[in-house]
Amino acid sequence: MKRIQQDQLPDSKGFFGDYGGSFIPPQLQAVMDGIAAAYLKIKADPAFHEELGGLYKHYVGRPSPVFRADRLTRSAGGAEIYFKREDLNHTGAHKINHCLGEALLAKKMGRKKLIAETGAGQHGVALATAAALLGLECDIYMGEVDIQKEHPNVSRMKILGAKVVPVAAGRQTLKEAVDAAFEAYLKDPETQFYAIGSVVGPHPFPLMVRDFQAVVGREAKKQFVEMTGALPDALVACVGGGSNAIGLFSAFLDDEAVAMYGVEPAGISFKDGEHAATLTKGRPGVIHGFRCYLLQDDQGQPMKVYSAASGLDYPGVGPEHSYLKDTGRVSYEYINDAEAIEAFFSLSRLEGIIPAIESAHAAAYAVKLAKKLGKGKKILVNLSGRGDKDVDFVIEKYGAAYGL
Ligand SMILES: *Cc1c(COP(=O)(O)O)cnc(C)c1O
Repeated sequence: MKRIQQDQLPDSKGFFGDYGGSFIPPQLQAVMDGIAAAYLKIKADPAFHEELGGLYKHYVGRPSPVFRADRLTRSAGGAEIYFKREDLNHTGAHKINHCLGEALLAKKMGRKKLIAETGAGQHGVALATAAALLGLECDIYMGEVDIQKEHPNVSRMKILGAKVVPVAAGRQTLKEAVDAAFEAYLKDPETQFYAIGSVVGPHPFPLMVRDFQAVVGREAKKQFVEMTGALPDALVACVGGGSNAIGLFSAFLDDEAVAMYGVEPAGISFKDGEHAATLTKGRPGVIHGFRCYLLQDDQGQPMKVYSAASGLDYPGVGPEHSYLKDTGRVSYEYINDAEAIEAFFSLSRLEGIIPAIESAHAAAYAVKLAKKLGKGKKILVNLSGRGDKDVDFVIEKYGAAYGL
């Protein structure tokens, strides 16, 4: 399948080839049309980019560095491995990039309150941070089971001034939280703004979140060329919804010599419910108002998914990744829990960087790829976040295996 130039996508209805679009009730469609119009207007406004760029620089600490990981490279024994350090951003991950963009848009649209769902709490914390900074209210919907599990992030959101709304329906996790947040949003779409946490959901969110994350790729391309005199041979990033991956990839899509790898979580096994490798094992379907590869049962219902990295366990995936898979421009690979934890410790002990388990999936694949590509080649990995949130879980579950 021939790939269309990235700046031509999505089309005016939000489609990337067969994927994306907007499969929502008419009432919500009118709201999304309003957001799309406001976003396209602001996208063309230099003052908006100047304001957001100022926040990236002075508040987030951008540009984040690119770092050559010499000890990890030597241990892998092949291509050189470099990391784009999104873990060094304020709040510790790439999510702040799109949360600030969405919050600023909401403010320009005159909205008073940001709302969103959160699973592990990472999106909730990043959004609560943006809300505090810009003086907006913030309601975060979260399943009661997740509230029990993710206590430190619940505390962070509350300290930042957000309201955490417990959701008691169903399995009391992410899916029910999405439903509850959408319901609350529909009751008052004029004063509230629904801030989606990845390149997913109905148009214009996959476009908008990609544009806000594109800063990662723009910076990394310039930094990498300055450091090495050339483009990388390959890019690697983990894929949950796909925002950190598309952020890095977007600057290089038209550089055909740069290979790209998106890394999905293979969890425990490929049995139903034990992984979240959507592009590897799914087939096209509709979830949360958009079309994409989907892990689904025979009735088309989203399947239960699992990964040790809670930021990666989503049964859908961004529509642009679905499209890039079909065109063959990006290869989608997978790494299981055990391999990710091995990379979590390697990166900690060889480089002094404790990565998020999500990012450790990308690092683990980069080590495999380094061996395959061999010496003289260069791989740039998006280190999407830091692992502070994961240390207790890793010690409890894997500590004994690592002599801790
Ligand atoms: C949320 C999260 C991810 C997964 O989200 P994408 O939209 O796929 O990037 C990856 N890494 C970290 C550190 C996260 O917090």
